[in-house]
Order: sequence, then structure tokens, then C-alpha cells
Amino acid sequence: MVTLDLPAPTRTTALACRGLVKAYGTTVAVDGVDLDVPRGTLTALLGPSGCGKTTVLRMIAGLLAPDAGEIVIDGRIVADHRTSVPPEKRPVGLVFQDYALFPHLSVARNVAYGLGDLPRRARREQVHEVLDLVGLGDLGRRLPSALSGGQQQRVALARALAPSPELVLLDEPFSNLDASLRSTVREEVRSILRAADATAVFVTHDQEEALSLADRVAVMQAGRIHQVDEPQTLYTRPATRFVAGFVGEADVLPARRIDTYLVDTALGQLPTTDAVTSPEVAAVIRPESLQVSADPRGTATITGIEYFGHDQLVHVRLADGTSIRARRGPLLDLHRGDRVDVAVLGPIVTFPHAG
Ligand code: ATP
Repeated sequence: MVTLDLPAPTRTTALACRGLVKAYGTTVAVDGVDLDVPRGTLTALLGPSGCGKTTVLRMIAGLLAPDAGEIVIDGRIVADHRTSVPPEKRPVGLVFQDYALFPHLSVARNVAYGLGDLPRRARREQVHEVLDLVGLGDLGRRLPSALSGGQQQRVALARALAPSPELVLLDEPFSNLDASLRSTVREEVRSILRAADATAVFVTHDQEEALSLADRVAVMQAGRIHQVDEPQTLYTRPATRFVAGFVGEADVLPARRIDTYLVDTALGQLPTTDAVTSPEVAAVIRPESLQVSADPRGTATITGIEYFGHDQLVHVRLADGTSIRARRGPLLDLHRGDRVDVAVLGPIVTFPHAG
């Protein structure tokens, strides 16, 4: 686990969570979570099922009270050991997994729901504006049941955005959509949030969704955050072994330090991105960094090929019996049983064994 060096919250921080803890009976669901969300950004909380993502989101929303820690939204403490501002008093908009639209209310009235304080005319104008923003300006009179899944989700988003909250929270917002719709809707949601200049946090267990959508991704496991970074940094410089394995594909091999930036592995001597300080470390090999070429005198053997069309995953057994994967283009010029030569492109990331 890495120690996070957190900046002090500033005016540019929309949300700051400090040392959040939450247990359900004897299950510690959230175990000391620190998270800063800069204003105007989209942050993904990414992690496997049961790691505590939804619990964090519900504490930020005010639907659950933390056992310890504090939550600051727009510079105001909304939860700590003394305070717990109720959900309706927090400047937060929520989009639930199932959208939670009122089935008997029209689209416009669903969106107007959170605008009760506004005079009628201002309310109507705000509903109109936000429905235009989500591209549903003409559908205000329809009932939710007469909309597609993607449209229903945009209504839920419009309802969350209508009161101009400081923060929009989305709980697995794309999980109810068909795979074919998902990437289009993702892109739409992203542009809507950008157009509204909203700050948002969304929960997902889908790493592709997190990487493609978020400005920053917080990777969680067993109630803790391992790393918060931009997608590219997360992928190219994972801070822990868990992040390396969960974000993208990776094979982890034992490695021995040869020099400050050089280790010895079953793939030979490899340069490293960072200084190696321990004698024994773990080396992360991404399948796309492995080059495999046919060589009758090669010491590695192909044990299997998974063909996906746009690319293929080639399983290789090295001379010492280590199994490793390589990603290659669509050309099927190698086959199971072929002898091959294997090389690694670029420097690799290493961790201490306990990382
Ligand atoms: P998923 O992706 O499956 O929704 P998650 O990462 O959002 O998972 P949480 O729903 O926050 O995880 O749950 C974290 C842990 O707390 C899990 O072990 C879960 O079983 C447990 N948990 C969640 N809600 C309750 C509850 N109401 N009572 C008891 N245990 C709970």
C-alpha cells in the first residue's frame, strides 16, 4: 500500500474526504479513505465488487454516516464526528444505477422535482434549459416508460444537474445499458457533464469505463484507495501490484536487482522505469510490451492463442516454465506449439514484493 501525499483542500477542491471509515457490523467496508476531487473534473472510483466504492459514494451523498473521518464539500464540512448534514441539504446531485425516476411523473416533472424552492416560472425555465442540455428538449411531456434506457439515464442526469449542485455522484451509471449502447451513452454523459462544467464522481468496477471517461481514477481495494491519478499515469506507472493487475492486463514476474535501473527476470535483463532498491522485486509485464517472433531455435513456446479479430492474446511458456501473455495484431502467423523468441519493449515497472 502506498502512502498518499495529499494536498491541503483549496478553493479548487470541490470535495475532500479525510480518513473515512465505515463498518457494517464486523465488516469494515471503508478503511481510511482520503480523496480530493478538483472542481470541474470527473473522478472514477474504480475497484472490484465489494471493495467499498458504493459505501464511499453514499457517505458523500449523506445516505450513510461515516464512523470516522470528515467530508468537506465546497469548503463546508458536511460530515464529521459532530456534524451530519442530511442528504437534501448537501449540494449534491445523485444518479442511481436504476435511475430511480418517478414512473407516474412526466420527464419535465421528474427534472423539476429538486427545484421546489424556485418560483414557478424560474423552475420551468431551468427544466427547459437542462433538458436542452441533455438533448431531450422535445420530450418533456413523455413518461419515463416511453423512453429508451439511454434517454432515461439522461433524464436522471438532468434531474441531478437541475439544482446546479456542487457535485454530481453517479453510482454504476452505465451498468443497466446494453454493451452496444454503453460507449455512446458514456460519451454523451461526459459531454453533458463538461457542458454543465460539473464536478462529478462515479463508481464503476469496469476499468475500461474508468480509463476512457474519467479525468482522474481512484483505485480501491478492500476499503482502501491504492492510487489516485490520471488514466495514463495509472496505466503506465501503477503504484502497487494490485493496481498493475486490476487496471489493464499484466503478468508479474519475480526479478533480481542487477543495477539501479536493471533487473534480471525469466525474460532476461530488463531496464526499469524507477530505481530498484531491494535485491528481489516483482516486475510488471504488459502484454502489449511483449514482442513475439517465430524462431525455430527460440527457447519459448506458444501454448495458446485467443483471437479477438482486432487483436490476439498469445500465451507463451518461457524456458524456465513461466507463462506470460503477449498482445499482437490480427495477423494469425503464429500457432500453438511454435517456437518463438520473446523481447520486451521499453522499461518496465517494478515493485517491492510486498507492494
Ligand atoms: P459492488 O461493486 O458490488 O456494488 P462496492 O465496491 O460498491 O461493491 P459496497 O457496496 O460499498 O462495495 O460494499 C462494501 C462491503 O460492505 C462489502 O463487503 C459488502 O458486502 C458490505 N456491505 C455493504 N452494504 C452492507 C450492509 N447494508 N450491511 C452489511 N454489509 C454491507
